[in-house]
Amino acid sequence: MVLSFGRPLAAAALVSIFTACSGPATKPDPVPPPAAETEKVAGADKVVAAAKKLVIATDVDKRLAQFAPTDVDFDEKLIKPAFRKVLVKLVQAAKILDDIYLDQVSADNRALRAKLVAQQAPQAALDYFDVMYGPWDRLEGDKPFVGSGHKPHSAGFYPADLTKEQLEAWIKAHPAEEKAFRGYFTVIRRQGDKLIAVPYSEAYKTRLTAAAKLLREAAKLSPHKALSKYLELRAAAFVSNDYFDSDMAWMDLGDSPLEVVVGPYEVYEDRLMGYKAAFEAFINLRDPVYSARLQKLAKYNTQVERNLPLPKKYFTKRGTASPISVVIELFTAGDTRAGVQTAAFNLPNDERVRTKKGSKKVMLKNVTEAKFNKVLIPIAKRVVDEKLISSIDFDTYFTDILLHEMAHGMGPGQITVGGKKTTVNRALKELYPHIEECKADIVGLVNGAYLIKKRGLPRAMAKKLPVTYLAGVFRATRFGTEEAHGKAVLVAFNYLRKGGAFTYDAKTKRFSVDYTKFDKVVRALAGELLMLQAKGSYADAKKLIDTYGKISPEMQQALASLKGVVPVDIRPTYTILTKMKSW
Ligand code: ZN
Repeated sequence: MVLSFGRPLAAAALVSIFTACSGPATKPDPVPPPAAETEKVAGADKVVAAAKKLVIATDVDKRLAQFAPTDVDFDEKLIKPAFRKVLVKLVQAAKILDDIYLDQVSADNRALRAKLVAQQAPQAALDYFDVMYGPWDRLEGDKPFVGSGHKPHSAGFYPADLTKEQLEAWIKAHPAEEKAFRGYFTVIRRQGDKLIAVPYSEAYKTRLTAAAKLLREAAKLSPHKALSKYLELRAAAFVSNDYFDSDMAWMDLGDSPLEVVVGPYEVYEDRLMGYKAAFEAFINLRDPVYSARLQKLAKYNTQVERNLPLPKKYFTKRGTASPISVVIELFTAGDTRAGVQTAAFNLPNDERVRTKKGSKKVMLKNVTEAKFNKVLIPIAKRVVDEKLISSIDFDTYFTDILLHEMAHGMGPGQITVGGKKTTVNRALKELYPHIEECKADIVGLVNGAYLIKKRGLPRAMAKKLPVTYLAGVFRATRFGTEEAHGKAVLVAFNYLRKGGAFTYDAKTKRFSVDYTKFDKVVRALAGELLMLQAKGSYADAKKLIDTYGKISPEMQQALASLKGVVPVDIRPTYTILTKMKSW
């Protein structure tokens, strides 16, 4: 899944997603005919012929400007020549998956974009179409900015007019087909008056065969055995439609300098059933600097845990560990590139693999840094005490994210409530994600302060960490506070504000840090969170969220001042596309 710290900050398909460019020549697989040959025009209920011009939102320039153009770059010297050859093949394969994804979003996408080109639509409309992978605005609840048809929940995975009830009724009447219909890797099509489940390996056969060939060539070129194994098995999965072995191999990539993900993963695009996985690719390079920092911090783990404000008897053994990998993103394609850009992800999603091997968290350093520069700093300049702005830096910001991720693995996991064994997750029910995210933020800060004291982190961070965290609050709460991480940040912020750790100047309308109180108040909140987790107290969790989970007028005002001024996300240009021409 995409992690909340990777909250939306969007993307752009700067390589046209419609031309195979330098990629291999592949014929697109047959796609079903467009759902409607006619286009409804806004405000009119009459249906006009498709030959009429498409209506384009008049503010499309402004919408595009929400995404700050950004080079996603890397140091070429970090990649040995043998791996450069591997990368060329991988980028070509990724482009093919990008092309499949466009059809997965909507069977009408190609025809629609061609029509935009034919009617000489403004460049911003074409660019925004490429950012969104279709005519619907992912920042506006999928409302159309081209044409007026709402996005079908079925995306390109099911016939556009199929309802959930119809599909359920079909499955009920044909129980032998249930597995195929509910599978992650099939599309549902009509055949006469029947419904059929078509495996991806058939539906996208031409393109997946071409992608598999490239992965095999990359596997042969790769000097790293585990990487070769993953690529070979993933190539086989494209043909067999069985992804299990290759997901297992991905967990075993070990010290491969390239951290690569290619395949169908997330199911968010399927709003009808939430079953069908969308194709995507991440081509990443392991980051040497922060990988080393992570290892260094892990050495302090026992001491750090002992320092937490929770009686020893409540510390319990955690489940499967989730290794963290810090990487530099080189190229992405498909699902992950649509709309806001991913800053971290946790894969695989297959529960069978998670049970056997756990999962891996991958953090994209350069993407996070780009968001920091293009979004977080402009936010800070508007809402944080001017004297403190120079203390906000990327190294501290990224370290804080690492501390957050590490804190997830600390504190109570398996617990006993009323004599019965359970888990914190089960006891806190739907409030668990909010409390757990809040805990990760706050325990991360407690650990940060401790590590600074013990010289595990630089001394200078003592001043930088609280104010960098403060600036991050406004990024995380900007687009709503209902999902777990937004709400968690709000609870933490209001608690710290009430305790005097954060202050507000009504004259300048800026927030500041009271360093004499910060550590003490943070530690008090950590104590409350850890204790309610240890006791598995749903009532305490609810009370904390009800008390602190509301936006105050001063914060509302600060957030309003950011609207339309600070970009929402980045629009990447991948410099590898230029660099690899000489590889
Ligand atoms: Zn988290």
